[in-house]
Amino acid sequence: MQEPSQRVIFHVDVNSAFLSWEAAERLRLAGGPDLRLETAAVGGDMASRHGVILAKSIPAKKMGVRTGESIGEALRKCPSLILVPPNHTLYRQRSRQLMAILEEYTPLVEQASIDEAFMDMTGTQWLWGEPVAVAHTIRERVKTELGFTVNIGISVNKLLAKMASDFEKPDRVHTLFPEEIPEKMWPLPVGELYSVGGSTQKVMALLGIRTIGDLAKADRGLLVRHLKKQGEHLWAYANGIDVSPVLEKPPESKSIGNSTTTAQDVCDHETAHCVLLSLCESVGERLRAAGMEAGALSVGIRTSGLQYFSHQMVLPAPTSVTSELHEFACLLLDQLWDGKPLRLLGVQAARLLPQGAARQLSLFEKRDYDREAKMEQAVDSLRKKYGKNAVRRAVFVEREPGKGEFPLKNGKG
Ligand SMILES: [Mg+2]
Repeated sequence: MQEPSQRVIFHVDVNSAFLSWEAAERLRLAGGPDLRLETAAVGGDMASRHGVILAKSIPAKKMGVRTGESIGEALRKCPSLILVPPNHTLYRQRSRQLMAILEEYTPLVEQASIDEAFMDMTGTQWLWGEPVAVAHTIRERVKTELGFTVNIGISVNKLLAKMASDFEKPDRVHTLFPEEIPEKMWPLPVGELYSVGGSTQKVMALLGIRTIGDLAKADRGLLVRHLKKQGEHLWAYANGIDVSPVLEKPPESKSIGNSTTTAQDVCDHETAHCVLLSLCESVGERLRAAGMEAGALSVGIRTSGLQYFSHQMVLPAPTSVTSELHEFACLLLDQLWDGKPLRLLGVQAARLLPQGAARQLSLFEKRDYDREAKMEQAVDSLRKKYGKNAVRRAVFVEREPGKGEFPLKNGKG
């Protein structure tokens, strides 16, 4: 892989975003206390204690509170934990305000999630000055104008910029230029390399790879034997190689979605996840039939009180694989849903791209999605030939007594 040289890429990442935004809002409205300085966390679905921690303050982190763990678990570790409910309307507002500031500095801003963005600052030196100086200007502006802090990582590609923004927090600017890799990145545990998950880490441990440096110097053939294509990608990452471009705002593309009104209120996560699976199956099938993949996914819900909420995310890599769509749909639902009884659930795939356009660039393959994609294509053609119920997921068959799948009533679009 050839590294395009002389690019200047920033990765801007809000420090403990949901918690910081809530803290800044409380300071603005009531003058405090500053939740960032307390053992505090944002948790979804707090009433039933089934929800998970979505963000935590640095003092809470020191008490062992982790993002993604259950609220009950977090309270066991930190009984004095102050829990606040999520406020997605506020998050969207703050996110838009942050992006507006970033877009003043370059038109090439790629929002990677609600609280992070890549900026291609190549060639802006004549306008804004040295990258480190302009990064500090942006960091200060966000702090004074919007009331929260960001980390900014600077390098020649997205991977290194992202790794740099993850160094010491909060309110910091870090560089990770190629010549700094041996000193700043190689000593880190391999689990801190972007996109290395738990199962990959286990394989690495068996191969005697503990640090990112070990991985960078490992034999590529050995990695490919054990981790296939992902081994190749991770080796490149460990050596600081990433050729993916910063993508501007994607052109408005049509979307593929499906929603369903349920016969009874949905009150538990297991049922809700099952409904999402059924919806993702039809969305995935339509994507595959159109030869498209989704770059973004959104989930919408309507409560029995007729309130409507939705939440969306850019996917780590475009996909049309049902199980992958389902995994992210569940994640979105869990961030969105406070446990109130639901009457409608919807899933929508957006930012559509032609199939296979981006898979080879993906560095997120914790699972063999290529194999799953082939299997799903086979299922699609069986269904086309023999009817919808020719092949069904075990999870739906087990639910059979009440007559089959969820009463899917409606709405494609
Ligand atoms: Mg963040």
